[in-house]
Amino acid sequence: MGNIRQDWIIRVFLLNMAMMILLTGCGGQEQPVDPEARKLLVIGIDSADWRLLKPMLDEGRLPNLKAFMAQSNHGRMKTFFPLEKSPVLWASIVTGVKPEVHGINNFVKGSGQKPVSGSAWYAPALWDMIGAAGLSTAVAGMWTTYPARPIDGVMVSDYLPYGRRRDKPLANLVYPDSLTDRVVALRVDPDSLTTEVLLPYLNADDLAPIEAKYPRSIQKLRDILAADMGYFAVMRMLAETGDFDLFFFYLRGPDMISHHFYKYLMPDRGNLRIDPEEVAVFKDVVKRYYDWSDEVTGEVLSWFPPDRQAVVLSDHGFYGPRASGDKGTAEHSEWGIFLVRSPMYEVGHEFGHLELLDICPTFLALMGMPPARDMPGRILTDGATGPGLKRIEKMERQRVDSYLGLRPAVGPEGERDEGVDEEIRKQLRSLGYIK
Ligand SMILES: [Zn+2]
Repeated sequence: MGNIRQDWIIRVFLLNMAMMILLTGCGGQEQPVDPEARKLLVIGIDSADWRLLKPMLDEGRLPNLKAFMAQSNHGRMKTFFPLEKSPVLWASIVTGVKPEVHGINNFVKGSGQKPVSGSAWYAPALWDMIGAAGLSTAVAGMWTTYPARPIDGVMVSDYLPYGRRRDKPLANLVYPDSLTDRVVALRVDPDSLTTEVLLPYLNADDLAPIEAKYPRSIQKLRDILAADMGYFAVMRMLAETGDFDLFFFYLRGPDMISHHFYKYLMPDRGNLRIDPEEVAVFKDVVKRYYDWSDEVTGEVLSWFPPDRQAVVLSDHGFYGPRASGDKGTAEHSEWGIFLVRSPMYEVGHEFGHLELLDICPTFLALMGMPPARDMPGRILTDGATGPGLKRIEKMERQRVDSYLGLRPAVGPEGERDEGVDEEIRKQLRSLGYIK
């Protein structure tokens, strides 16, 4: 243990040295980088795919994405193949290492199908790496973050939508615990969503008869939207009350909505033979959820100065129903999206693609930190400006050996509630992720 601790201290020291060099320049002639210039906003939209977004843009929809494209270097993101589950992909995005290194390789473990907990992370996430360098983070809803563990900043775990019927919230739902009551108060009850909120997703004049006829589908819509709305409200509160170096906003809903409703968007795909009336009611749910996600994206961007560095990305794309009838990850596609707004990159440039493991080194570079030599990916260079490319090359040369020494200490145990575990399994089953 002593060696590990010592190793950790040495690594943090080296890291700080590397950062000082980067920030001030070796010869000391460069101006120190303004701390504001290193801040980064990340907007993660699970399963966003240009094959859906481009036609929507052509229809004049998604105005906020359109505006952001004009300000950013953007292109496709190549995810892992064979296609993987979102927790595995996001953990790889934020650690920069492969699943066999970071340890997050599933939703559940063992024959009892216990949901994988936050203690399964063997590699530090972006918030741990930048935290060691004194930079703070707000992150909410990210996969495999229950129990929320101590970071420099605020972590709201992915269990916020669950266990609403409990008398008191699960322990360690939020770090720091002092924010728990404020966060839990912002949770949105699916049953509280009114006709006015839900009707825009459907092709119907009234909700009641539709809900009576298709109760399961409407319940899905309620659950998914309420969870995203809750996290949106939490992040709004955090943006208003804190000033974080990394603000990591994540929408899980677009993927879940796609798993449930894509078949209505493409009813001829996959030989599903769905009642045409049902198709008519639900065929625009996916696109309208993206309309809403676009509004959310616009609002989240508006919480920050217009020159704040920002990335909009997904972890994989979405193909929809397969002819084989396979569900879960089989419905994902290999190509996600990646857009980056930063003085390091040309505005409005379209790059070919980057790989999923290039994302973490790119995040680090945006925040003024070198990647590590044990990260297989490379900082995105396609679309870099002249000075941006110089900075990237310098950071590639100055890679630190490893950030793995910053792996999270064993955090709080959290609380296991069989009711909550079953809520999670039920959701994963309905998505086709587990049996
Ligand atoms: Zn999915």
